[in-house]
Amino acid sequence: MNDASAPSGSDTYDVVVIGGGPAGLAAAIALAQTGATTALIARLAPYADNRTTALLGGSIDFLQTLEVWPHAKDKAAELQVMRLVDDTGRLIRAPEVRFSCDEIGLDVFGYNIENRLLLAALEQRAAEIPGLTRFDDEAAAISPHDEVVTIRTGQGESLSARLVVGADGRQSPCREAAGIEVKRRELNQAALTFNISHSRPHRNISTEFHTSQGPCVFVPLPGDRSSVVWVAAPKEAERLIALSDGELSEAAEKQSHSILGRISVEPGRHLFPLAIEQPRQVAQHRIALVGEAAHVLPPIGAQGLNMGLRDAADIADVVRHAMASGEDPGAPQTLRRYALARRADVASRTFVIDIANRSLLSALLPMQSLRAAGLHLIGSFGPLRRIAMREGLAPSWRSPRVGRSDFLS
Ligand SMILES: Cc1cc2nc3c(=O)[nH]c(=O)nc-3n(C[C@H](O)[C@H](O)[C@H](O)COP(=O)(O)OP(=O)(O)OC[C@H]3O[C@@H](n4cnc5c(N)ncnc54)[C@H](O)[C@@H]3O)c2cc1C
Repeated sequence: MNDASAPSGSDTYDVVVIGGGPAGLAAAIALAQTGATTALIARLAPYADNRTTALLGGSIDFLQTLEVWPHAKDKAAELQVMRLVDDTGRLIRAPEVRFSCDEIGLDVFGYNIENRLLLAALEQRAAEIPGLTRFDDEAAAISPHDEVVTIRTGQGESLSARLVVGADGRQSPCREAAGIEVKRRELNQAALTFNISHSRPHRNISTEFHTSQGPCVFVPLPGDRSSVVWVAAPKEAERLIALSDGELSEAAEKQSHSILGRISVEPGRHLFPLAIEQPRQVAQHRIALVGEAAHVLPPIGAQGLNMGLRDAADIADVVRHAMASGEDPGAPQTLRRYALARRADVASRTFVIDIANRSLLSALLPMQSLRAAGLHLIGSFGPLRRIAMREGLAPSWRSPRVGRSDFLS
């Protein structure tokens, strides 16, 4: 960190958010709505892939408080039932587990939406907020000082901020500028994503087939359409992505055991090598990380962006409280509060998803027995199943800050 204070001649903001993926846009809107002078440095560009997000639990409430959900709701499909099906073909197999939202008194678990449509809704709302200044640019240099962080954009603008929110994804330049090390473990798996239309209705049921290489999930989209996330060993994933449309449709139909009838793949496929990434801290030197800059998980249980939205809600909450008490939003105690708010959620979900993935891949009989017994217990014992459902949606220890009526006051 440099010792100098804010260099003169640059615009100073309470907060500058760097990165305009879904986590960054949500954070920028939430921060601007607290009354903090906020800038967003993010290229205005179409979303680059065909991922979808199953928005669960408090994510919808949060998007409501941001006034984003009304722009997105009619483009999303309701998720009411989630099925886990053991398709490993192994000697010891787990029984099917079926989670139904009405068991925990909900109309829906959440909604599945294409990321490009969610991003468009976030962009639309961001453009409406007078307190949010947009730089259609990238941050070329980020330098933390004692009193501020200075930022130089690719087009030569100079800005400074009391707090920088790094929402700049996996390779996060903000994380590097803050001197935060990251623990990275490459998984020997890749996720192939594509969308399909099908001849039978999905009835708002998401089905996760567990294969010995990873899960293959069919998640409802509006109409007779679904999104597919197919996790496999890298070689198999490369083989799948190279198939013709007809061949991939046939492979998806076979993998889904024809539960959706005839399948036709839509244009567009993407491959994501999987990894687990855990930065040593989520905030340091006036820089706080949100979204994939702060955590990367394999796409199991639809947790990644749901956690990213909780990061966004928490950093806005912490900043709102700091400013209301006349404190500096980038001061060490503010960053400590943010780290404390995020620690248990991120650590516990990373642990559970890692274990779930390992237990699926393990060829060891004791591990397979344990996994089958665990799923059998969850499947047959109502109270345990309901706990698993509630925890899957949002951490139970979390105060109902997201969506709280005073969140934006
Ligand atoms: C196959 C797959 C399926 C998934 N499904 C789900 C799901 O169902 N539910 C769920 O909750 N999560 C899911 N996830 C996780 C989710 O997709 C990610 O958590 C989320 O997209 C990350 O968003 P982000 O905003 O943190 O990062 P990104 O979308 O990567 O955004 C980072 C942005 O920062 C920009 N940037 C980088 N450097 C700079 C710079 N110097 N200046 C300005 N901008 C910069 C980049 O261009 C990019 O636009 C899935 C992930 C995968 C791989």
